[in-house]
Amino acid sequence: MAVEPIEEPRPARILLVDDRPTNLVVLQALLEGAGHEILTASSGKEAVALTTAGDFALILLDVMMPEMDGFETARRIRDEGRNGRTPIIFITAYKELEEQLLRAYVVGGVDFLYKPIDPEVLKFKVSVFVDLYRQRALVKRYSTQLEAANTDLERRVAERTAELHAANDELRLLAHASSHDLKEPLRTIANYTRLLDERYKQQLGGDAKEFINFITDGAHRLDSLLNDLLAYSEQLNPPRYAAACCDSEAVLGEVVMMLDVLVRESHAVITHDPLPQVGAEFNEVTKLFQNLIGNAIKFRGADAPHIRISAQQQNEKWLFSVKDNGIGIHPQHHGEIFGIFKRLHGREYDGNGIGLAICKKIVERRDGRIWVDSQPGQGSTFYFTLPEAV
Ligand code: ADP
Repeated sequence: MAVEPIEEPRPARILLVDDRPTNLVVLQALLEGAGHEILTASSGKEAVALTTAGDFALILLDVMMPEMDGFETARRIRDEGRNGRTPIIFITAYKELEEQLLRAYVVGGVDFLYKPIDPEVLKFKVSVFVDLYRQRALVKRYSTQLEAANTDLERRVAERTAELHAANDELRLLAHASSHDLKEPLRTIANYTRLLDERYKQQLGGDAKEFINFITDGAHRLDSLLNDLLAYSEQLNPPRYAAACCDSEAVLGEVVMMLDVLVRESHAVITHDPLPQVGAEFNEVTKLFQNLIGNAIKFRGADAPHIRISAQQQNEKWLFSVKDNGIGIHPQHHGEIFGIFKRLHGREYDGNGIGLAICKKIVERRDGRIWVDSQPGQGSTFYFTLPEAV
């Protein structure tokens, strides 16, 4: 929504109230030429009728009037009309009335002019109140426009978010369905290659055995890729999880058991500080530890892997760290490794470059962050935050 330009201010409407026509004429003459729209009333009653019908920027009100005096007129203007907050300048010959009036009209702008009226003081006071009125009107218009623009923006953000959710849902279903469906023909290829190998091993000569190994190896890699893709697709905009709670130390115990073969083969030593209850699902924390510890073992250096998991409380979150003594990562790659399919190595390390992307999705869904601190040859420390358990 475009913000409308603020138009030129309209002339301010000023109401002069006095029972003596000559006074009205003098006042009117003094205020002429300043661009105001001046209306007059020769009694309190007339003034109340006028203020019930229209808005005024300022009212100049004579105190001493027959029938309805300035006090009563002001009270009725405040209570009955649409000018309850319009400033009033009382015109009086008696200075001692000031305190009395102030007490009676504490709400809204009130001022005084004493007879005989000093034209300069009159013009100055009127211009101050008119400026105030204009500024108030301007602020009101701006805030109305701002409110409308805000509502419009919120509506557009909500629409866009809904569209993105729908697109993401579609993508998730597509990724899930295609990786699922691709596994079926892949199984057929793997099975028939195995049969070919078992039944016709003797007849096949030359490079045939080697070719069969290539096919089997390729099928395995494709299968692992499809499994990872399936796992990643499950993290794409899944139905929003309700608040969750799990014991991250218990999760770590399970993950270390799952990785038992790897741990033994590599002689990895995994230690940890006391770990907290966190506001995430058991399987979310499982995937985080599984990927980070799996990587710490996979990307080990010459020494056996030493991996330490710690957690500390920070700004109503838990900050976890998974520190290893592996090959390390050059700072120029610290951001990109969390992108899908991003790998820094060739076939010497297996993997599909999806693990850290899954970790990022999990952590961000829980309003957290994940990052790495590392130097080549000096190990890596992966940090991530999770909410406190509720
Ligand atoms: P994958 O392990 O399947 O290759 P990831 O998404 O888990 O994929 O990791 C992306 C890349 O980040 C890895 O290929 C590797 O280059 C680098 N990396 C991840 N963890 C470590 C680590 N602990 N030490 C060194 N490099 C790492």
